[in-house]
Amino acid sequence: MKCPYCDSDDTRVINSRPAEDGSAIRRRRHCDVCGRRFTTYEKVETIPFMVIKKDNTREPFDRAKIEKGILNACHKRAVSLQQIEKMVLEIETQIFEAGDKEVTSTYIGELVMEKLRLVDEVAYVRFASVYREFKDATTFLLELEKLNWSKEN
Ligand SMILES: [Zn+2]
Repeated sequence: MKCPYCDSDDTRVINSRPAEDGSAIRRRRHCDVCGRRFTTYEKVETIPFMVIKKDNTREPFDRAKIEKGILNACHKRAVSLQQIEKMVLEIETQIFEAGDKEVTSTYIGELVMEKLRLVDEVAYVRFASVYREFKDATTFLLELEKLNWSKEN
């Protein structure tokens, strides 16, 4: 990213976070040459990503899929659309920060679970049960136990 003041290429990101309306990533940047700071807004949709699926095939990253998965998990739960949007954007941001052109669907799934776990435990378990394809009740209960364990600590 070029510095808008002195045109230098030596700029670095100080911090990144979702813009208030959730449609972009806001980055504060610092220019190492002239020392000035500036802000950029980046639309996540414009960044091309490939997702590596479990069978090793690739497909373009699709935020709608993450959104749908979270929406389903949060069905009839006390989670607002705004919270869901925020989670989706945070996940996109994290993937983007990792700097890879390809991410595994497993990694995305883990990120979704991480977010859901903090927002709504029922939604988390729902998502996890679909995502991890719990084969029996035991695996499911183990997951619940993990939740209780983290609560006590
Ligand atoms: Zn500069």
